[in-house]
Amino acid sequence: MIQFQQVSKRYPGGIDAVKQLSFEIRSGELVFLAGHSGAGKSTLLKLIAGIERPTSGAVLVNHQNVSRLSRKALPYVRRHIGLIFQDHKILFDRSVFDNVRLPLDIIGFSGPEVRRRVLAALDKVGLAGKESLNPIALSGGEQQRLCIARAVVHRPAILLADEPTANLDRDYAHDILELFKSFHQVGVTLVIAAHDESLMADYGRRILRLKHGEFTA
Ligand code: ADP
Ligand code: ADP
Repeated sequence: MIQFQQVSKRYPGGIDAVKQLSFEIRSGELVFLAGHSGAGKSTLLKLIAGIERPTSGAVLVNHQNVSRLSRKALPYVRRHIGLIFQDHKILFDRSVFDNVRLPLDIIGFSGPEVRRRVLAALDKVGLAGKESLNPIALSGGEQQRLCIARAVVHRPAILLADEPTANLDRDYAHDILELFKSFHQVGVTLVIAAHDESLMADYGRRILRLKHGEFTA
């Protein structure tokens, strides 16, 4: 489902954020991406989503070479991907409902299906009944859940999460990971980046460890 072939990414300024990475993630896998700040976790997720392009090597998602796709073709890959990024990118000039519907608008959904899906996604993350609120009225943890609802509302096959448990207390972090587990159980492929490996231990999944852009044992 996701394949990296000798992928390197050098940012302007000369930093090799990831170096010659080769690996494969199969459909339906739940994979944790571990490593300290600066290890290259965000870069790896952005390469999968086509937000960054590799300096060399190939990134394949669903057998398509994301690194070669034209800007026009990229949205077709993106509709299979849900993104949960560190800076939440919540829009505070509109309601919870209108935040969650954004991916559906981009894909071109309309009519009653939009409302049904948004309410299903909010229900899934435990925010049922909060759709009319402004996101400013939500707690930090609830805002995180809003981001998760927005990431899954279009039922993506792949869910990418960058430090989704950062700044959350331990119990709350586990709730969020349980939520991810429920997506895993319905067949979604998940890649979750986090620097706190102790959280992952309870889930006993595959862990890819990054250090200075390379895998370590
Ligand atoms: P992590 O998510 O593990 O903290 P990142 O992928 O964000 O790691 O960063 C890996 C390295 O690439 C770091 O040294 C970081 O400073 C650098 N980097 C990340 N994004 C950029 C950018 N847009 N321009 C230049 N350097 C960057
Ligand atoms: P829907 O009413 O949209 O068919 P469900 O009630 O089956 O959704 O599930 C509730 C929510 O769980 C969905 O809106 C979606 O956010 C998430 N979800 C369930 N299954 C999947 C899946 N296979 N891929 C992505 N997200 C899913």
